[in-house]
Amino acid sequence: NKFEQLGLNEQLLNAIKDMGFETPSEVQEKAIPVLLAQDTDMVALAQTGTGKTAAFGFPLIQKIDISSRKTQGLILSPTRELCLQIANELKNYSKYTKGLNVVAIYGGASITEQAREVKRGAQIIVATPGRMQDMVNREMVDITNINYCILDEADEMLNMGFYEDITAILSHTPSEKNTWLFSATMPREVASIAKEFMRQPVEITV
Ligand code: AMP
Repeated sequence: NKFEQLGLNEQLLNAIKDMGFETPSEVQEKAIPVLLAQDTDMVALAQTGTGKTAAFGFPLIQKIDISSRKTQGLILSPTRELCLQIANELKNYSKYTKGLNVVAIYGGASITEQAREVKRGAQIIVATPGRMQDMVNREMVDITNINYCILDEADEMLNMGFYEDITAILSHTPSEKNTWLFSATMPREVASIAKEFMRQPVEITV
């Protein structure tokens, strides 16, 4: 089992076994060892269906300090459906990582209920940019302790007009965090986000 050669902990390896994943996909093989071993930014060109959720999800889960309830990881994703899907996957991956809480935040649902969930302690938030920015503005969520920020389907988020929300959110996070950008394509707007908010990212393509 090559998952055992990537540097993942027992809790994750046991969850991987339960899910029936036998071998790492290409993006997982390329991203996971780098993200676990280094505190680095990353730009990954990868389509949906390549296993990219686990490529960023496994290292993120392993790097969270579960003794703290502060929000340390933020994943921005284009739609409510994708947020829920990613949050559910992360909950499966972390089934043996006791004390890790993942909360999904998206528009079209009660903001006060979502704020309540965040307040109970969410080390990882999976959010759409519009609702996230709204909650940051209303001080319903504290993103000043974010160590890891993942931009998932960055090209899609920018197509949907989230440039302003994304840049506003990133500006409120600590500059020393690590940013991992995943995108199927690299249009000018995506490259400009990478240039403005990332430092010497490791680049991978699948
Ligand atoms: P994603 O590209 O992250 O949306 O993943 C696509 C699908 O592949 C999801 O249903 C995952 O649960 C599944 N998957 C991810 N990695 C693996 C793997 N290494 N082996 C088998 N299935 C996987």
